[in-house]
This record gives sequence, structure tokens and C-alpha cells, in this order.
Amino acid sequence: SPTPQAADAVVIGAGPVGLFQVFQLGLQGIAAHLVDALPHVGGQCAELYPDKPIYDIPGIPVCTGQGLVELLQRQIAPFAPTLHLGQQVHTLAAQAEGRILLTTTAGTALLARSVFIAAGVGAFVPRAIKAEGVEALAPGQLLYHPDAATATRAAAGKRVVVHGGDEAAVQAALDCVDAAAQVLLLHRRDAFQAAPALLAQLQALREAGRIQVVIGQITGVETAPDGTLQALALLDPQGEPQRQPLDLLLAYLGISPRLGPIADWGLAMDRKQLTVDTATFATSVPGIYAVGDINTYPGKRKLILCGFHEATLAAFAEAERQAGHKLPLEYTTSSERLQARLGVA
Ligand code: FAD
Repeated sequence: SPTPQAADAVVIGAGPVGLFQVFQLGLQGIAAHLVDALPHVGGQCAELYPDKPIYDIPGIPVCTGQGLVELLQRQIAPFAPTLHLGQQVHTLAAQAEGRILLTTTAGTALLARSVFIAAGVGAFVPRAIKAEGVEALAPGQLLYHPDAATATRAAAGKRVVVHGGDEAAVQAALDCVDAAAQVLLLHRRDAFQAAPALLAQLQALREAGRIQVVIGQITGVETAPDGTLQALALLDPQGEPQRQPLDLLLAYLGISPRLGPIADWGLAMDRKQLTVDTATFATSVPGIYAVGDINTYPGKRKLILCGFHEATLAAFAEAERQAGHKLPLEYTTSSERLQARLGVA
């Protein structure tokens, strides 16, 4: 296993609360690494409601989900966290010497003095295809939610099946059409949800015979002895088995939050939330805090505002734990030290 990178603080989850946690740690002089399963920051605000309005952030009468994420990114810019995106924190274990070792699904290992779990309603991960043989496929033959560049690169010269019915699936089929030898769009029914302009492009390419729509459900995969993908086993709308040859499968079945491994980290929980001390937002393990939607305590409300308060007290608690004594309150308005950290002095 790789030598872990030393970190003052690791923030798990780059939702609004994880982002603000980085800010509060920065004010305390604690540099943070920030990890998220998604390839971008913003958590629920970016993933579930980027264009919807939010009206209850103090001092911001109205902004969109994505707008709030952009403002938070600007606010934390002086503290430039080390980002580890597109990877899920998989293991977390307190070490004998008091530090905490974390590993991610991308093989990143971090040895942290403190950890701030801002994991919200869980890690946003792509929904998997549940069919026989899928898990044993050789790497690179099935990609979940690849971006346009990755999808087109992988599709070059191949017979590609794009699986899904929403905008991401339609867009991927359109993106691959020039590079691929053949593009099939596979969905359980002949109805796709996407912007009218994309649906019009899809229709034109279908009529031109460049994209074929296949209606069916995947029941299994057929592979060569070396694990190479050869064909999909499908059930058509009449319930008849069909065989569809291909070289590459791109799956866009949506992204949804899953609590994932957090329940295995040995931290005290109540139902699916981490229990915390409301003076410090510490979990049951020293140096590990939980803030935002992932925690629970008497009176808890799952609001961004409440998460911001929690992140503030957690940063104070960790700074005092590291200092070994109580720290005075300083204002950003007047503290030279805080202004120097913010880069505005
Ligand atoms: P999240 O935003 O859920 O972010 C958590 C992040 O952690 C995710 O990106 C996830 O991928 C990541 N993560 C989890 N586990 C791992 C792991 N093991 N490894 C790596 N990454 C991990 N609140 C308001 O205050 N006002 C509103 O108007 C409002 N409107 C809303 C509208 C909708 C439609 C929804 C769904 C929610 C709304 N909320 C609103 C609630 C608000 O979005 C949440 O309270 C807020 O997003 C919680 O922030 P968070 O940072 O704690 O978690």
C-alpha cells in the first residue's frame, strides 16, 4: 500500500457544509484536504438542485444551488484545499499514535490529525447495473457516467451500447456517434428525457440510421474466456430473450446517495446518522467530527445554515484540542492574524 500523505485535516464531503468547514479550518490556521465521490464540489446543491432557488442563507436573499456553491468556492479560495474528487473514502481507522488513516477508492491514503465528516446523505455514486457477470467484466469495458471526453475516447472504433433514458444517456449517445463504429441507445422504453434540442438531434440521427434505439432490459453479459465483453443478454418488451453484440457499455442510470462504508468506521450512530457532542461536534472518537446532514443531536435540523454553525464550532474545537488550551475569539473584521490568513491584510 502507498505511503500515506500527512494531513492536518481531512474533510469528507464537498457539499456546502464541507466547503464551509474548509473555510473555518482555514481561519484557525488548519489546512485541509477535501474528498468527494463526485467529480465536482457542491454536494446536494450541485447534484440535486443546481438551478433551484434557496431563500434561507443568512445575508443572501436568494441564490440557486449552483450559485451558492460558487460563492462558497470563492470564499474558501484563500485556503486552497487539496482536492481529491471522484473518489469515495472507503476506510477510516484511528491509529495507536492518535492520528487517523483514511483510504479512498482511488487508492489515495491520508494520515490525518483530524477528520471532519460532512458526508450529507451519503456518497453520490452511479447506480450500478444489476445483472449476471457484470462485476467480473475486465476494466474499461463498462463505464459508469463517463464525461464526454472519456466516453468518446473509449468509444473510438467500437460497437457502443449506451444504457439509460435521461439527458446524460442521450448526450453520451450523441457524443459517441462520430468516434464509434456503431451506437445503440438501450432503455426499458422508447421514451427519453432530455432537452428538446437533444431529442431533436437524437431523432435526426435515428432517422439517418446512425443511432439505433433498442428497447429492453439487461439480464446478463457474455464474455470471452479472457473476460472481454462480447454481448449483452436482454429481455425485449415481449419478454423474449435477445442477444446484442458490443465492445463497450456506457451506463447512465442516475447518481444517487448511498451511506456507503461510514457505518463500518466504528463511530457511534443513531439510525443512519453520526451522534455528536453539540459543544464540539465531535463524534465518539477524538479528532473525528461530524457536521451537516450526516450528524444527529437533539433539535437537529437538516439545513445548510445549521451545518455552517456546526462547522464553525468543530473548527474551534479542533484548534483548541491541538493547542491544548482555550483560544480567544477573534473577528475577521479586526483580527490581523485572521486577515493575514485570508490574504487580505
Ligand atoms: P451534502 O450536500 O449531502 O454533501 C455531502 C457530500 O459528501 C456529497 O457530495 C457526497 O458525495 C459526499 N460523500 C458522502 N460520503 C462520502 C464518502 N464516503 N467519500 C467521499 N465523499 C462522500 N437546505 C437549506 O438550508 N435551504 C434550502 O432551501 C434547501 N433546499 C433543498 C432543496 C432540495 C431539492 C434538497 C434535496 C435539499 C435542500 N436543502 C436545503 C437541504 C440541503 O441541501 C442540505 O442540508 C445540504 O446539502 C447538506 O449539506 P452537507 O454538506 O451536509 O451534505
